Amino acid sequence: MSDETPRHEYDVVVIGGGPAGMTAALYGTRLGHKTAVVNSGGGRAAMMQEVHNLLGVTEDTSGMEFLSVGREQLEEYGCDLHRDRVQSCSATDDDTIRLAGNEAEYDAKRVVLATGFNDVRPDPPLPRTGRGLHYCLHCDAHMFVDKSVYVMGHSESAAHVAGIMLNFTDEVDLLLRGDDPTWSEETADMLDRHPIDVIDEDVSGVQNGEDGWLKALEFEDGTVREYKGGFAMYGAEYNNGLARELGCDINDDGTVVVDDHGRTSVDGIYAVGDMTPGHNQLPVALGQGAKAGIDIHFQLRDFPRDPDLLAEQGDVRSDEVPGIPDELLEQAVDFHTYGGE
Ligand SMILES: Cc1cc2nc3c(=O)[nH]c(=O)nc-3n(C[C@H](O)[C@H](O)[C@H](O)COP(=O)(O)OP(=O)(O)OC[C@H]3O[C@@H](n4cnc5c(N)ncnc54)[C@H](O)[C@@H]3O)c2cc1C
Repeated sequence: MSDETPRHEYDVVVIGGGPAGMTAALYGTRLGHKTAVVNSGGGRAAMMQEVHNLLGVTEDTSGMEFLSVGREQLEEYGCDLHRDRVQSCSATDDDTIRLAGNEAEYDAKRVVLATGFNDVRPDPPLPRTGRGLHYCLHCDAHMFVDKSVYVMGHSESAAHVAGIMLNFTDEVDLLLRGDDPTWSEETADMLDRHPIDVIDEDVSGVQNGEDGWLKALEFEDGTVREYKGGFAMYGAEYNNGLARELGCDINDDGTVVVDDHGRTSVDGIYAVGDMTPGHNQLPVALGQGAKAGIDIHFQLRDFPRDPDLLAEQGDVRSDEVPGIPDELLEQAVDFHTYGGE
């Protein structure tokens, strides 16, 4: 970083502007802490063709629309949004965490990691994501009730998801795409004992309808099979590089170890959303963001002043309150101006 690199100071910096990170930032800002989101764009929420499982949000809302409304809400309350990618981070001498992005540096008292993961995509040819190629069972299984579906993959979890899909439909194919299965004998037995067709041949072509939805997959042996859609099960690449750099404990599967408030093993560092263990769902991500935001408020708020500090610094003077930064105070007053007052 050069001497001219801008540096911004915040109480809370959230890395990742998906649903989990933006919710943590919403709580941070509305509870009176100078907060920023640093987001590089993309992410799993941005891939949603339509939002499911989120009470109060209709299914004709896309992920991009959902995120865009979230960003507007954050700005209205006074949260700073930076389009940037954080490349590295480190602790400084004065209990501050310094984040180095491509565009600027960010100093924070508390950092929330909300960088999610990337689904590993199988090789093409593939249907369109959200129009026949899906990654989220609890989001999209409902679309495939009584439809012909595939599960793509050769792992234990691919076989497991094929079994689960029998709860929704009686037509389930498991597509190995030429790979050798890595599942256990017990799982092979489970597959044998359920009406699931395991197809060895690789996919050679995709047939889509005029609406863009998948109609059928073509296979290398010349066969064509009709499907409404299916799930790709090739695992996840967790965006946990910053967590590792900060020394946070990481689980064997790549998720970041957190407690019920989203606290990692390193003081002052939180992790929320898809990069932590648990269900990868919007309502879960939102809840985790809320919990982390509230926990941070408990740690950062000034009043009532701690008894040790009262002993050291004396009584709280009336000119020291309220404890909210001026710019957030003004924005809150503007936001809640009723009847022109
Ligand atoms: C195709 C698809 C459809 C889905 N549909 C649904 C659904 O209908 N209902 C539902 O409940 N769930 C759905 N999900 C799951 C849902 O999208 C995720 O659970 C949710 O987005 C997780 O939120 P997150 O904030 O943890 O991560 P993400 O949404 O992945 O956001 C992570 C953000 O971090 C940013 N980032 C990463 N690294 C950096 C860095 N170094 N610096 C700055 N920014 C960084 C990324 O750019 C991204 O914006 C779907 C998932 C997929 C893939």
